[in-house]
Amino acid sequence: MAFGSVKGFGVTFSHMFRKVITTDYPFKPPVSAPRYHGRHILNRHPDGLEKCIGCELCAWACPADAIYVEGGDNTEEQRFSPGERYASVYQINYARCIFCGLCIEACPTRSLTMSNEYELARDSRQDLIFTKEQLLAPLLPGMEQPPHPMRLGDTEKDYYVGALINPGTSAGAERAPWSETATVDGSGATGDGK
Ligand code: SF4
Ligand code: SF4
Repeated sequence: MAFGSVKGFGVTFSHMFRKVITTDYPFKPPVSAPRYHGRHILNRHPDGLEKCIGCELCAWACPADAIYVEGGDNTEEQRFSPGERYASVYQINYARCIFCGLCIEACPTRSLTMSNEYELARDSRQDLIFTKEQLLAPLLPGMEQPPHPMRLGDTEKDYYVGALINPGTSAGAERAPWSETATVDGSGATGDGK
C-alpha cells in the first residue's frame, strides 16, 4: 500500500475517536445559550394586563423593518394595558428579523423581550408573520385575560414602580397579592429575558 493511502487512513482513524458534534435533531434539540436571541415575547404585568403601550419605538428601532404596530386607546370599559394606549395590532415578520435585539433595547416598558425559542421555520412567508396573539406571554396563575381594570394601582405609575419591586418582597406582595405566583414579565422567568 502506498504511503499516501496509509496516511489517508490515519486521518480517518484519528477522527473516529473524536467527540461527536452532530446532534440528533429534531428528536433531541440542542439547548441554546441562556442569552440566545430567539423568538420575541410580549410580556404582561402580574395581573395579566399587557406591558405594551403601542408606542412603536420598537418598530422605529428595527433596522429590518420587521415590526408593525398600531396603537389603540384604552377606555375604562376596555382596558388592555395601564395608561392611555395599548397595541391594537402588533406583528413581527420573521422573514425579515435578523434577531439583533435593537427592538428590545428601545422598548420603554420592558414589554418586549426575546426567548430561547429558535424553531421558527414555516411552510409559507405568511406564517412567518407572528401576530400579537402568538407573541403575547401566556397567562400565569393569578393573571386575568384583558380587557379588565387596573388591579395593581390607580395609575400606570403604580405599575411601573411595582415592576421595580421584586414580587417576592413584602412591598410587592402588598401591591399585588397574586404576584407571589406570577412573575413580573409574565414569561415564567424572573429575569428580563434579554
Ligand atoms: S430583533 Fe432586530 S431585526 Fe428583529 S424585530 Fe427586533 S430590531 Fe427588528
Ligand atoms: S413592544 Fe415596547 S417599544 Fe414596542 S410598541 Fe410595545 S411598548 Fe412600545
